[in-house]
Amino acid sequence: MRTDTGHVFKLEDYRPSDYLILQTSLVFRLSPEATRVIATLTIERREGVAASAPLVLDGDGLTLLGIAIDGRDLQPQDYAATPDELAVLKPPAASRFELVLETEIAPARNEALMGLYRSSNVYCTQCEAEGFRRITYFLDRPDILSIYTVRIEAPHNEAPLLLSNGNPVDSGALADGWHYAVWHDPFPKPSYLFALVAGALGKVADSFTTLSGRTVELGIYVEPGKERLAGYAMDALKRSMKWDEEAFGREYDLDVFNIVAVSDFNMGAMENKGLNIFNDKYVLADEETATDADFANIEAIIAHEYFHNWTGNRITCRDWFQLCLKEGLTVYRDHEFSADQRSRAVKRIAEVRTLRAHQFPEDQGPLAHPVRPRRYREINNFYTATVYEKGSEVVRMIRTILGAEAFRAGMDLYFERHDGEAATIEDFLKVFEDASGRDLSQFALWYHQAGTPNLTVSSSHNARAKEFTLEIEQSVPPTPSESRKRLMHIPLGFGLVGAGGKPVSYDDVEGATVDNGVIHIRKRRHVVRFTGVAERPAVSLNRGFSAPVTLSVEQKTDDQFFLAGHDSDSFSRWQAFNTLLTDALIAAFRQVLGGKPPAFAQRLTELAGRIAADETLEPAYRALALSLPGEADIARDIGKGIDPDAILAAREALALAIARANRENFTGLYERLADKGPFSPDAASAGRRALRNILLDYLALLPEGAALAATHFRSASNMTDRAAALTVLAHRHAGSAEAQQALADFEAKYRNDALVMDKWFQIQAGVPGSKTVETVRALTGHPAFSMANPNRVRSLIGTFSSANQTGFHRADGEGYRFFAETVLEVEKRNPQVAARLATALRSWRSLEPGRQAKAREALLAIAAAQNLSADLRDIVERTLA
Ligand SMILES: [Zn+2]
Repeated sequence: MRTDTGHVFKLEDYRPSDYLILQTSLVFRLSPEATRVIATLTIERREGVAASAPLVLDGDGLTLLGIAIDGRDLQPQDYAATPDELAVLKPPAASRFELVLETEIAPARNEALMGLYRSSNVYCTQCEAEGFRRITYFLDRPDILSIYTVRIEAPHNEAPLLLSNGNPVDSGALADGWHYAVWHDPFPKPSYLFALVAGALGKVADSFTTLSGRTVELGIYVEPGKERLAGYAMDALKRSMKWDEEAFGREYDLDVFNIVAVSDFNMGAMENKGLNIFNDKYVLADEETATDADFANIEAIIAHEYFHNWTGNRITCRDWFQLCLKEGLTVYRDHEFSADQRSRAVKRIAEVRTLRAHQFPEDQGPLAHPVRPRRYREINNFYTATVYEKGSEVVRMIRTILGAEAFRAGMDLYFERHDGEAATIEDFLKVFEDASGRDLSQFALWYHQAGTPNLTVSSSHNARAKEFTLEIEQSVPPTPSESRKRLMHIPLGFGLVGAGGKPVSYDDVEGATVDNGVIHIRKRRHVVRFTGVAERPAVSLNRGFSAPVTLSVEQKTDDQFFLAGHDSDSFSRWQAFNTLLTDALIAAFRQVLGGKPPAFAQRLTELAGRIAADETLEPAYRALALSLPGEADIARDIGKGIDPDAILAAREALALAIARANRENFTGLYERLADKGPFSPDAASAGRRALRNILLDYLALLPEGAALAATHFRSASNMTDRAAALTVLAHRHAGSAEAQQALADFEAKYRNDALVMDKWFQIQAGVPGSKTVETVRALTGHPAFSMANPNRVRSLIGTFSSANQTGFHRADGEGYRFFAETVLEVEKRNPQVAARLATALRSWRSLEPGRQAKAREALLAIAAAQNLSADLRDIVERTLA
């Protein structure tokens, strides 16, 4: 474990290294407690660097056994080795030389899951961001691109399968039952993309013929016996390969493409060149064990990692400040892929919900940072919603501003100009400027400036002059270390909507550049005047969620209802309804605290009924519309003085009102939507299940609701329906006989399936109310739970602390105390996972004063612990700052 050195890495301190590593040849002799690694590195001194410049390599917890240059062992005075650094004090005078290093590591004792480790007797690696330095000393930075050849040796009975990056070039038997395999990757790559897998695994094989007619052998490796669960992942992989050829003109470049699923993994998956390593949660699926959401995630993540082959691997990042260069862009690509495979409208709403739930609170709290940060203490803590999700929104805005054709021309230029390089955000923006002739310098602030911009909008209509006016003002709130903000270029999608939902035409517009349904906001204030508008239109703003901003709009409730029923932009129509729901929930929240009830509640419940029954809308869309804003979403919109119990009460009251008003309508629809025929994971079938399950959630609030949910649970023929019914029982009827029975049945049936048991933990960790902290504490002792496995920890502890508002924020602070203890316990093994968990308290300052004080105590308790890791100290100190 790296303890905190307090060092802050700064973007402006970047400079190229004095040395390059042209070739990297690695030999691994695998053994759980003592793996030997022999690294032969062809080193070249960069031109202009003095021959006396020492060669300093990164390490992390390494033991050096041997060191030689050009065949000669170095003398102790010629180098200085610590576990974290190796310095060759007097490198040879020749500009190119060969350095041989021998190190020893213990994969079986590596619980941080970074570098080379063991997961269920399989050797595997995770090197991004700085795990390679836990294997051998190296210039472990993304701008050092090297050609790798890897030889793996292991006992055949323990590890019949030996995989690394690139193409297989040799294999054979050795003495004493050992064997070896050699892999060569012809594409230069940074060390974070290195991968090795060795063990006994089952294989699913297939092949893909590329655009130019080359055959690529595809392999997905899983725990033996689980091969049949990898079929959907393989199908998703082939669709991804084809889509990248069609949408971006990108073809795969090696002879093989392998994916390995492992059960202990810190992240979702990793795009190592030619050898992706996946959390098994994102590979294994069938209808019995996986929900529709799991299928959709598998499809998206398989695609994401595959797409990295061009955006990340062939063109990588110059330094870790540029992480969004590969992540934001690749998230954008996987979103586009899913939109093409499924429903674009539904996908967009789901993306925006995720962005608002995860990125907005980050941007509005103490952990806010620009999409391209300028400083960090621990890079592991920058794999954030801002870098990924907001990073993707920024790429989407480039496409909105440039249009589809110029955007594609820019992407083509990017691949052509930077293939084989380590690039920067400036390089990325430049290709779009060159391809389109447009100036993106103001737009570039989206990468450099943190915080969610707000647009305040008011409108007026002058019937006599036939003029419609929008007054739009932008502001960006201050964020840590950025108190003054510059004005941004915000592409604001809009529509003027008239009777029946028809677009309202206008003669002319002044006050801002307006093209293709987008107002370009560049100044603090714009008065945008549309002439030739006879009747007052309703205005639909931020159509398609064209910019990741918040809106403060003076809009009549009647207009909101009109847009919720008629807006031709499906995103904005959903948004109008969602805004009405949010307004009603905030009013109900104030009512719980002694205010007045919302005046339009009845209209809203009627509209919910009409949307549910509207056959012109896709079922998945209707399901999303009917799912009420989450408790955390409501809290974010309220802003200050949050009392989670009052928010829950408000949300339950509105749900009950909707259920009561629509009982017959919902019941009839619920019955008609029952699955007929065999299971299919396709989007349309999943949409029908989603709508039926949200209707169940409402109907379960009415008398006989528990019995209905129990029947739904017992008759479920797939995991989507089973998990939905179990959630309804456990959350809506906590402690009831039906809930107890269903939880016990589920446990009995799946106790040996770790991934399914994660759902069981997750559902119980999410039960609203004050008793859940005790349940969760007790479940940490369940035989299926383990503090060493990230998936288990995220299911139980992560769900409780980040998705259970009333349980976690219990008024007496017990939730926080349990959280602090657990974070420190996880940290002993896995600092990265602990730091991620600890972000659950990032919005503590928005709580009401009593809870705020208790949350602070918990954060201080973590901060006071001895020998805190760099990862955890960084998060806790920034959260408290
Ligand atoms: Zn990625």
